[in-house]
Order: sequence, then C-alpha cells, then structure tokens
Amino acid sequence: MSESSLRADIVEVGRRMYARGYTASNDGNISVRLDANRLLMTPKSVCKGFMTPDMMCITDLEGRKLQGDRDPSSETLMHLEVYRQRPDVQAVVHAHPPTATGFAVAGIPLDRAVLAEVLTTLGSIPIAEYATPSTRELPEAVRQYIKAHDGMLLANHGALTVGADLFAAYYKMETIEHFAKISLVARMLGRENLLSREEVTRLQDLRGAYGIKAPAPICAETAEDESCQVVQAPAGGGRRLVPDPPSLAQRGHASFGEASAQADGEGEIRLTYRELSALIEEAVRNLR
Ligand SMILES: [Zn+2]
Repeated sequence: MSESSLRADIVEVGRRMYARGYTASNDGNISVRLDANRLLMTPKSVCKGFMTPDMMCITDLEGRKLQGDRDPSSETLMHLEVYRQRPDVQAVVHAHPPTATGFAVAGIPLDRAVLAEVLTTLGSIPIAEYATPSTRELPEAVRQYIKAHDGMLLANHGALTVGADLFAAYYKMETIEHFAKISLVARMLGRENLLSREEVTRLQDLRGAYGIKAPAPICAETAEDESCQVVQAPAGGGRRLVPDPPSLAQRGHASFGEASAQADGEGEIRLTYRELSALIEEAVRNLR
C-alpha cells in the first residue's frame, strides 16, 4: 500500500475511534509499518478525530523520528515493542473505549468463552499489568501477552489491538468494546452462560477454515505459557458462573433479607432499587 493511502487510513481510523467515543481529547494512538525499517505514527497531542494526513510522523524501529513536523506519539515505545515481538503485525491501535476500559479498571479480563465471533477472531482478552503510560514499564507489561494475543486490556488505562492492516487492528478494538458491552449487560442481568470447552475447540478449528489467522492456540485453563491463550470454558457443557436469580418461592426469605419481590400476573418480577443492588452485589461477589 502506498504511503499516501496509509496516511489517509490512519486519519479515517482516528476519526472513527473519536466518533465512537473510544478516545477523548488527545487520547489514543495509531501506527502502521511503512516498510521493513519504518513506521508511520500518529503525532503526540492531537485529537485523533481531527487529524490530517500531513500530521503523521515517520520513525525508524527504534522510535527515532525520520520525518514529520510533529513529534511521534507518547506511546511510541509500546508500539515499537509490539512490532519487535510480532513480525506478522502490520498495524497497532491504542484507545480508551469506556466499557472495555471499565473492565480494565475493575481488573476483570474478557477471557470467558461467551461469544463465538470473539473466540474465532481474538480468543481471550487478558489484562496487562498496570504501568505508567508513556514509560518503559508499559511495553514491558504488554510484552507478556502480545505474543499470543491480538488484543488486550491495559490495567487502569485502556486497550491495545494489533492486526495485519490498519482496519484489522481497528476492528479488533471495536470487537473488544462490543464484547465488553455485551458482557456487562449479561452480568447485570445476572446470568452468563459459557460455551463448553468442546465448543471452544470446535471454534478454534473453524478459525483455519475461515482463513482467520488465529493469534494463538487456546491451551488448558491452567497453562502459564506465553505462546498460548487461556479461555475460561467448562468441560462437558455450559456452567453458570453467575447463578440464576432466586426463584419466586425463595424471594423475601433468607437470601435477600428484607427483599420482597413481587411478581405480577405475567410473571414479571419487580424489584426495589435496594433489592436490585443486593442481586448485583451477590453476582459481583460470585465473579471473584
Ligand atoms: Zn492511553
């Protein structure tokens, strides 16, 4: 791809990230390989929603600026680490999408076998340990997961995705935020049915059939191997990590203290704010 079309693609990806609320103000950064030795990178201190193609910086693989009126992104070190560890990666996207970042703040990884699309494209989405943004700590935190993952959360910070081109990396950011929203809703509803380990294996096999370049194989739940992923999926059928809400007969008794849920004729359950809070608290306790 020509340099001018890559510049235009970075502008477009930045515009979409900002329009979707994945970044605020000057947050986020985007880069792409220009050739074997050079990167095209967003500049520091600009809003990603209002960039123009001429703003981009060209750096070498050590982060030294080769061309551009502005200085490269403050997260250049993190991007360089990804390119060093992953010769297959052509583009890197970093943003702070609010729901996914909420999971990153809560310390809850998106690693449960819930959605087939996520399992085939990204697999598991772990959380890289907290590191001060723009320091050398951040690339070190990312290094632990980047070999086996195309997307990860950054603790108390945001998310990082990589891909075979700019749009592939950007779409993975969309997938992570979408997945985070769905996970949040399912957990608020009080039930999260997981896909079985057998189904996860089947989906993993499909990756090849659909020509999806899988980030890495999914290993056993306990594996501590950097070259594979860990997905939480129960063997032999779905398991409910979050229990069903108590049945009507149980409501109003021991499990919820003063709770006195009432069902109307259609089986609709009405809860007071306090009862709902108790349900959510119990669900959160069960997540830990
Ligand atoms: Zn950031």
